[in-house]
Formats: sequence, C-alpha cells, structure tokens
Amino acid sequence: MFEARNISVAYGKHRALEDVSVTVAAGEIVAMLGANGAGKSTFLKAVTGLVAKDGGGRVTLDGREIGVLPPHEIVESGVALVPEGRGLFDELTVTENLTLGAYPKRARASETENLERVLDLFPVLAERRRQIARTLSGGQQQMVAIGTAMMSAPSILMLDEPSLGLSPLLCTELFRTLARVREARVGILLVEQNAKQSLAIADRGYLLENGRITGEDSAANLADDPAVQAAYLGVASSA
Ligand code: ATP
Repeated sequence: MFEARNISVAYGKHRALEDVSVTVAAGEIVAMLGANGAGKSTFLKAVTGLVAKDGGGRVTLDGREIGVLPPHEIVESGVALVPEGRGLFDELTVTENLTLGAYPKRARASETENLERVLDLFPVLAERRRQIARTLSGGQQQMVAIGTAMMSAPSILMLDEPSLGLSPLLCTELFRTLARVREARVGILLVEQNAKQSLAIADRGYLLENGRITGEDSAANLADDPAVQAAYLGVASSA
C-alpha cells in the first residue's frame, strides 16, 4: 500500500499543494483528476522526491517511510514515475531505453525476466526492439516510457498524463495496457486530464483543485456525479 499523507508544497510564496492525502493499494488503479495547474505534476514530483515538501507530510510504501529518501532510493523502494513528456533517450534503441530502466538494485537480478514481461505487455515493442526511440510514433514512445518504468519492477507506477498528445485510438490502447499492468498486482496512480477513459479503468479517483483534494470516491460514482461530469467529462450540467 502506498500512502501519502498531508503533502504540501510551495514554490516561493505560491502554495501549489495543501495537505494532499492519497492512497494506492497493490493492484489498484487510482485516478487523480484536475485542470491545468491544479498541482497534479507537483504532487507526483513531491512524492518521488523531485520537489521539496513542506514539513509535516509523510509518504510510506507498505508501512516504510520513503518520503525522506532521495529520488533514486524512492525508485529503489518500488515507486516508478513516468514523467509528462516521457523522458526517453531519443537516440537509443527500444531495448537500450528499456534496459536503462533496470538500474535499481531491486531489478538488476531479474532484468531478463522483466524485459520479457514488458515485451509481452507491449508486443509492438518486441517487433521494434532495435528501432531508435525518436523514430517511433507517439503512442509507441509512451509504451517505451511505461515499459522503462516497469523494468524497475515497481510496486507502484505513477503516470503523469500518459495520454497527452495521443490519438483517440492510441489512448484506448494505452488505457487497455494499464489495465493489464494492474493484473501484475502493480498499483497505478494515473494523473490525467482525460477523465473519461481514466475513470473507465480506475477503481477510485481523487479530484484536485487549486492544490487541494476536493473529492474522493469510487471511479464509478465520480463518473456518475453531475459536478464531475460538468467539470471533467464535458457533459453540460442540466442545473
Ligand atoms: P498541468 O496539467 O498543466 O501539468 P498540473 O496540475 O500538473 O498542471 P502543476 O504543474 O503541478 O499543475 O502546477 C501547479 C501550480 O504550481 C501551477 O500554478 C504552476 O504554475 C505552479 N508551478 C509548477 N511548477 C512550478 C515551479 N517550478 N516554480 C513555480 N511555480 C510552479
């Protein structure tokens, strides 16, 4: 179980996150929905050690405090982040990118099995394993980014707007793949503006507005909530 409790972040005088608490259990898909600038990326960066948290917050994985660790040790503990914009090495091949994801000690011994598992998850990458990442389509590059994160054998996979810039067809394929990642008992925290498809695969969801959690419910209830529909699903409110 991943638990972030009372996470606050300020950029100078600007308070970007205020007391945000989120949990993700093994094998659970949790969506975090929020408009541009709501603080979604800041939350992911705060819990992976990439931006400093204000005092008081706690981040634990299976009861172990990881919020005090440097980023590489947070990865070592089992949290993998797929950043917005993917963060691939453009001039390296698919296999080279994936292999770089196996650098944590926890993953080195099982690198071959992990690579097989990732290529099984993304058959198109198996076909293109020698191709230079830059020459792949956007959707395939996103698969390499997720595959690279999966190479660290994480307990929790966090994704920052993975569907951004993908065609509707590739989005559908991406969300289907995430549902398969869940089957491996990996917990997924999905930060998205694509509320419809996120809620369709998620178990639970949180709404983030101006740095605060303003709602938390099962994904099905959120998808049925008229306020959520009006704000995130492009459904006109009848009120
Ligand atoms: P987006 O969907 O646009 O990525 P987001 O929900 O991920 O939005 P954040 O990127 O976390 O939002 O930004 C939250 C707030 O913090 C915004 O007001 C943003 O302008 C501000 N912010 C983000 N990064 C910095 C930074 N490095 N320095 C100062 N302010 C920042």
